[in-house]
Amino acid sequence: MTIQHHPDITTLMAFSAGTLEGPYATVIATHLAMSPGGRETLRHIDTIGGALLSAEPRAEISVGALDRLMGALGDERIVVTPPDERGTDSVPLPLQQYLPGGLDAVRWQWTGPGVATADLDWGDDGKSRLMLLRVGAGRRVPEHGHGGHELTLILQGAYKDRFGVFARGDIADHDEDVEHQPIAEPGEDCICLVAVDAKLTFRGRLMRTLQPLFGM
Ligand code: ZN
Repeated sequence: MTIQHHPDITTLMAFSAGTLEGPYATVIATHLAMSPGGRETLRHIDTIGGALLSAEPRAEISVGALDRLMGALGDERIVVTPPDERGTDSVPLPLQQYLPGGLDAVRWQWTGPGVATADLDWGDDGKSRLMLLRVGAGRRVPEHGHGGHELTLILQGAYKDRFGVFARGDIADHDEDVEHQPIAEPGEDCICLVAVDAKLTFRGRLMRTLQPLFGM
């Protein structure tokens, strides 16, 4: 198993620059804890960002560093993750402060058929949320668009949508242009760490009725 789905480069650049809001930064940090390839990519970005910020008049950044970054992004070697780094039941370090009892101690709230959520208290600013989403094995999340940036990290199980199969360690990095309908793979509930910055928009009458229940 290797991590197949990575954050957008613009998201990693914002993380590197320290401009991502708390929930998004937590999702990225947790992903990076599970992804040596992601950490390698971030090192390249940090190097370029540091050079750009430096006052060195002739900082050698442009062609060479950008080539290395783009080469790294397209280099399959850096996305290979040893199976033991992905683990199966551990809570990655950046998430442990929010889940002191692990996933087993989470108090889930029913939010729709086959779907439960749990808000994580990160010091809410009213604009963005950090939460866990649990989709029962084989169940589907209502088709929805996004009122803003949605960053999803799979912690357990897997889901499939029109972008492919997302398993532990994978990131789905969606903006407001994306509509999709994730379906949890059979065998195990799919648990995701999600950062959202606006209300999701569900399609269809049933889902509009359910939307207030989802509290999104
Ligand atoms: Zn979505």
